[in-house]
Amino acid sequence: MIGTTRRNFIQTSVALTAAGTALAPLAARAATAPRLFDASPLVQPPLPYAIDALAPVISAHTVDVHYNKHHKGYFTALATLLANKDTAGATLEQVLIASARQPAQAALYHAAAQAWNHNLYWQSLSPVPTTPSPALAAAIAARFGTQAALVDALAHAAVGQFGSGWGWLVLADDGLRVIATGNADNPLVEGQVPLLVIDVWEHAYYLDYENRRAEHVGKVLPQMINWQTASQRFAHATGAAA
Ligand code: MN
Repeated sequence: MIGTTRRNFIQTSVALTAAGTALAPLAARAATAPRLFDASPLVQPPLPYAIDALAPVISAHTVDVHYNKHHKGYFTALATLLANKDTAGATLEQVLIASARQPAQAALYHAAAQAWNHNLYWQSLSPVPTTPSPALAAAIAARFGTQAALVDALAHAAVGQFGSGWGWLVLADDGLRVIATGNADNPLVEGQVPLLVIDVWEHAYYLDYENRRAEHVGKVLPQMINWQTASQRFAHATGAAA
């Protein structure tokens, strides 16, 4: 299984990079990284709930434009960018990591990262209340003290991100961390495992909240984090019970 993954990744790397330079560290990381989705770079996953399920915190109109225009648009771009490349069997993650930090592959990286980030974003939200698994709850208590303190830290990071970007809860080498990234950037490139994400590009909230990012984040995070899917990713990455 791992051998197959590594072989596919090497094929992808060769196909994506003419020079084949500076790929080894990322290739090694990609070969051993937990497979979060094994998603296709060519297929947009279905929205995991009804389009109006997040209203009134996030309106059906916002979800419609965000999912059916913005998110879909990154898959349309990927289809074009990958059309003449030998990427058979490559996952979206593998395309993302193979194209990272290479100026000549910037368009591919941006499309792959934004497709991946939005895949996680929709899974990071829940229309119904959820709770962390005991294992994730213990890790949250160890790092942040309380779940509310984690939510505050995540809100601070998301609201404070200058310009477009993302607020994340990730699993790093030293445990859980809250971080923010700009534009399309994805923590997998740093060897971190994303557990959940909130989108703070203006298209995520402008139709409902205009310029009031803090109000949007302040409503979404306490009410709509999907702790269940975050717990599943935590379990996958650590071997803990889901
Ligand atoms: Mn978005």
